[in-house]
Amino acid sequence: MSDANQRAITYSCAADALSGRVILVTGAGDGIGRAVSLALARHGATVVLLGRTQEKLEAVYDQIKSEGGAEPALAPLNLQVARPQDYQELASLLDNEFGRLDGLLHNASLLGEITPLESYPDGSWESVMQVNVNAQFLLTQALLPLLQAADDGRVVFTTSSVGRKGRAFWGAYAVSKFATEGMMQVLADELENISPVRVNAINPGATRTAMRANAYPGEDPQTVTLPEDIVAPYLFLLGPDSADVNGASIDAQPK
Ligand code: NAP
Repeated sequence: MSDANQRAITYSCAADALSGRVILVTGAGDGIGRAVSLALARHGATVVLLGRTQEKLEAVYDQIKSEGGAEPALAPLNLQVARPQDYQELASLLDNEFGRLDGLLHNASLLGEITPLESYPDGSWESVMQVNVNAQFLLTQALLPLLQAADDGRVVFTTSSVGRKGRAFWGAYAVSKFATEGMMQVLADELENISPVRVNAINPGATRTAMRANAYPGEDPQTVTLPEDIVAPYLFLLGPDSADVNGASIDAQPK
């Protein structure tokens, strides 16, 4: 395991370590995105909750407020249908509301079908590539000026083991995660010497969420790690202590 991976998974920080930072999380209403949003808020961050289901975002908002966290912002947006101008409007809103953006977590994803490429439905292929690849390109491009204006901006992508080694039947999801690893590496290399922004990826590993249950319907969820138990590498890569880590793909649950 790399030194950066070891530091990421064993990371712990003070309760105010992220105070003053504004961090946007996609897919913040459920699963890993929800758990990371709560953890970020518990460490002082102002979290911008982006997702497609308003009620889920509101429930996370309410929980952060009830725990005494900084008031979050709601950013309801369907990444499957959002157009470039929607991302530009979001960037303007963040600029007007906060005047800054310190972190961006690309977490929202679609699983698509578990089926051979030969019979993979083209509509599902397009949806997965739109949400998992194109949307994160458009969102990154729109938010980069704000991230580059921050003292130490952070971008974190979410990868998967099937985005590093292809596996039969994982179709568009696997291909989209290879693309995600590629986008992370290209952006990290572009910014390495010209900006304090650091760009990395996290592979959560098997985690007890709706997506995991869809992918493995026969699995007993009780045997799978809870999202709240893998937040350490997210806090590390979205916070101030990872300035020397760039272009890394971190395993939250190394084997
Ligand atoms: P999840 O429980 O299915 O949550 C995904 C989140 O993304 C949900 O909040 C969902 O919103 C949101 N989302 C989906 N499509 C969207 C769209 N079109 N616009 C806006 N938001 C959208 O999945 P998860 O397991 O937490 O996965 C989080 C990340 O970890 C993903 O990138 C996934 O590929 C990765 N990952 C997960 C595992 C695992 O075992 N769970 C393993 C490896 C990698 P709604 O709640 O409104 O549907």
